[in-house]
Amino acid sequence: MSTTQQCPGYCMRCKASVPMSNPQQKLTVKGQNMLSGTCPHCATKVNRFVSAEQLNAFRAASVGSKKYQKR
Ligand SMILES: [Zn+2]
Repeated sequence: MSTTQQCPGYCMRCKASVPMSNPQQKLTVKGQNMLSGTCPHCATKVNRFVSAEQLNAFRAASVGSKKYQKR
């Protein structure tokens, strides 16, 4: 199985959907989940709102690929 995780986001600068580089999970003021990363082409910040399901999938992939500190 491939462990490569891709979090597509829309780059405003490239005006295209790109795979986020270094995606990080964030929470908006309204409590909505979102992923924040950078565009691999122009290094512009790329944000994407995600559902809880998508976030869980992202988390699972993230935990599986590299060990991080437990909470
Ligand atoms: Zn870009």
